[in-house]
Amino acid sequence: MKAIHLLPIGGASPELVETLPGLLRETFRTRVEVHAFNMDPEQFLDAGRGQYNSTDMLMHLKSRYPALEGGSGVCTLALVPFDLFIPILTYVFGEAEVGGNVAVVSYHRLAPERYGLPSDNDLLLARLGKEVVHEIGHVFSLTHCSVQSCVMHSSSYVEDIDLKERSFCRGCASELAHRP
Ligand SMILES: [Zn+2]
Ligand SMILES: [Zn+2]
Repeated sequence: MKAIHLLPIGGASPELVETLPGLLRETFRTRVEVHAFNMDPEQFLDAGRGQYNSTDMLMHLKSRYPALEGGSGVCTLALVPFDLFIPILTYVFGEAEVGGNVAVVSYHRLAPERYGLPSDNDLLLARLGKEVVHEIGHVFSLTHCSVQSCVMHSSSYVEDIDLKERSFCRGCASELAHRP
């Protein structure tokens, strides 16, 4: 399994970042490191939408992140505090290159207070963990899964995230186990 590099971007909360390596090591049984990567997110801002283009961010990461030079087999995941979009959707929680090297997750829409509800750090962390595992699952070649409790089930709304577990169904777990 590829090593995972976590890259906090755009002032991502260190308290959130530090919750991730432990659960990622446990889930993917690989080396997980937090690295600094200097990437100015303003170049990905769509001023009209007030959101950041996640596909452009992934392409930038893929071409500029030093550990990816020469086709190295590292999985990188950028964590960002701001809202992401792809042109055909209103927003995305994250995006990944399936079977590639790069992924990004935003926690902008994961906090209950965004929806007028009381703040709940445990709920925020649970959602973030699921979305990070989901996007890294894509990097490790998994596609969307029809099992609703599976972490690879796709989520359009934050409530969808709450309906799934942070773990893989048997089918996805078995596929993952057969990845190099
Ligand atoms: Zn997905
Ligand atoms: Zn599954």
